[in-house]
Amino acid sequence: MAKFSELLQRLKAERKRLLQELEQMQTSQQMAERRAGGPFGKRGEEASQVSELEKRMDLEQMLKKSLGEIDHALEKYDAGTYGLCDSCGKPIERARLEALPQASLCLRCKARQTKDAR
Ligand SMILES: [Zn+2]
Repeated sequence: MAKFSELLQRLKAERKRLLQELEQMQTSQQMAERRAGGPFGKRGEEASQVSELEKRMDLEQMLKKSLGEIDHALEKYDAGTYGLCDSCGKPIERARLEALPQASLCLRCKARQTKDAR
């Protein structure tokens, strides 16, 4: 069974990876914008550029959401409440934490939340 400190290391490594990915994405976006605004931009490519941009924004949002979850888990670690459910305060299942170290809800509360969201 993994220790909380090992899960913390995994969270920090994942956080670093996500930040790098976001940075790369922003760099390639700037390059794409420069290309599109240049004298060699082709009109026929506009439509595909829009859907590319949408795809990238979806991905960026997903990355930022994951980053937010990880930050939240790290805050809980500092506060000494890591591994406890945000909703009911009971310990989150160890198997769940090991599969998803940034989990902030126990399985029961997560299932309820998913059901309520429908
Ligand atoms: Zn719970």
